Amino acid sequence: MAYVDPSGEARRHEAAAEPKDVPPFTFLLVKLASRCNIKCTYCYWFRDPDVYRRPAVLTVEAEDAFCRRLEEHINAFGLEHFIVVFHGGEPLLFPKRRFVALQEKLLDIEKRTGCEITRGVCTNAILIDQEWVDIFDEFEVDVSVSLDGPPEIHDKYRLGLKGEATHADTIRGLQVLRASGLEPGLIVVCNPATDPERVVSYVVEELGIKHFDILPPDANHNDNPPPIDGYFIKLFDVWYDKYAAQGVRISTLDAMIQGLFGEVSISDTIGLGPIDTVTLMPDGSLEPLDVLRIAGDQSTRTDSSVQKNPLQAVQNDPCWRAAFEASTRPCEVCRNCEYFDACGGGHLAQRWSPTRNYDNPSVYCESWKNIFEHIWKWVSPTLVLDYKAAPTRDPASVPAPGN
Ligand code: SF4
Repeated sequence: MAYVDPSGEARRHEAAAEPKDVPPFTFLLVKLASRCNIKCTYCYWFRDPDVYRRPAVLTVEAEDAFCRRLEEHINAFGLEHFIVVFHGGEPLLFPKRRFVALQEKLLDIEKRTGCEITRGVCTNAILIDQEWVDIFDEFEVDVSVSLDGPPEIHDKYRLGLKGEATHADTIRGLQVLRASGLEPGLIVVCNPATDPERVVSYVVEELGIKHFDILPPDANHNDNPPPIDGYFIKLFDVWYDKYAAQGVRISTLDAMIQGLFGEVSISDTIGLGPIDTVTLMPDGSLEPLDVLRIAGDQSTRTDSSVQKNPLQAVQNDPCWRAAFEASTRPCEVCRNCEYFDACGGGHLAQRWSPTRNYDNPSVYCESWKNIFEHIWKWVSPTLVLDYKAAPTRDPASVPAPGN
């Protein structure tokens, strides 16, 4: 049963209030490598040339300082659970023996502190071999693989360094994982010019994967990206008509439906919620959410690092703080929008413009409105209001959110 605040007034007020204190961090994105072994046409990472000024992989000095700071942070805040996601560039460019040593250090921290440290890695899977699989298995590292669908879609955008196709190599890595019983998560970046039905049928029917995500391409107000409403409306229709009953779940659709039902989003892509991600760069510096670097050169540079500061201290860095505060205070247009509770202004990186920073609706705003309106038409009849005295009425008469 879902509870809906029909006016959305409570959270609208909350979002407009003074920024809240930052809670103790419980999640860290660890950039094991600043380079990649492929060159996707839409990649956000290399839009900031600053990544080339960083070490190619996490330095030993930064790794040692990170482990010390993590243990200190867990003890200082009495944390019982912490999540570390290994990322890049391509994180599997990090040497295997060092990856193993790092996992052992994290296990030691778990033993000393009693804090459970959940580990994950996001990879293009091209470098996955049996040795990597055995490491993931031994140290219980969850794996997410980036794959954009069938070869004719994937190989348009996810290209090797010489422009070559990469689909077959990614599938080979995926198969090595699955042959050992490791089921990875799957992340698809949509291209609005392609057919979402082909993507879903490929992932579900040909690969046999039922839980995955499809994300809009990263873009900001400098980019003038094509609209995504046609793609996501068809994606929703295909999922709703054919795949929902089979137990297929697409995280971004889940987040949109949950948002329309008044639940707090756990997605960065869409929904109302603070973004308190901390990114550890290969040189030990601490930055905000990595995707924010689509704003260009040094746009996520801070003066904080694990060598100099406790982890929590990055909350006082102006660059990190600006991103956090922007995530808790979407622009006025968004706060007055009927879809505010569900959309939350969209992904923080997609709100950025050179003149107003994050003080804008999403660059996909018109698309999100159309997508929410369409989804609401289909899901609202299934909604049950959590009012004890709610009168029985025709579900088709349930008003649009915010009305
Ligand atoms: S639909 Fe547009 S105006 Fe409404 S909350 Fe989302 S980005 Fe803001």
